Amino acid sequence: MPILPPLKTVATGASTRILRMSKKLNAKDLESYKALLTQLRREVSGDISDLEADAFSTDGERLSVDNPADIGSESFAQEFSLELLQRDEVTLGEIDEALGRVKAGTFGACEGCAEAIPKVRLNAVPHARFCVNCQRKTERHR
Ligand SMILES: [Zn+2]
Repeated sequence: MPILPPLKTVATGASTRILRMSKKLNAKDLESYKALLTQLRREVSGDISDLEADAFSTDGERLSVDNPADIGSESFAQEFSLELLQRDEVTLGEIDEALGRVKAGTFGACEGCAEAIPKVRLNAVPHARFCVNCQRKTERHR
C-alpha cells in the first residue's frame, strides 16, 4: 500500500478525539442531516431551474449588460452553465439517495467499507456515499 499524502485539514490531537467521540450518529443528528439534505435539495433544484433558464436563453442580454467588455464569452458562459447543470442533477440524485438512507436507517455508513463516515465530512457533504478513503478508491478506478 502506498503511503497517501496527509490531508490538507489534518486533525490535530483535540479535534481527533472529538471526531471519534461524535462518530456515531444519534436520532438528533439524523434529524439535522435530514433537514440539511432537504434544504440542500431545495437549493439544488432551485439552481437547476435558474441554470436551465441561463443555459437555454439565446439573447444573452444579461451577460452583455453585466460585462460589456466580455462579448464573445457568451458561448463559454452557456457551456459553463450546462456543466453546472449536469453536476447539479447528479447531486440531486445523490441527495435523494441520502434521504432514502436516512429513512432506511443506514445514513452515515460508508457504502465501501461500512464504517461510519466522519461527521466533519457529512457536514461538508451530507450526501456523501463513501468515507474519504473509499471515495479516493472509487476515483482512482474511473
Ligand atoms: Zn469507506
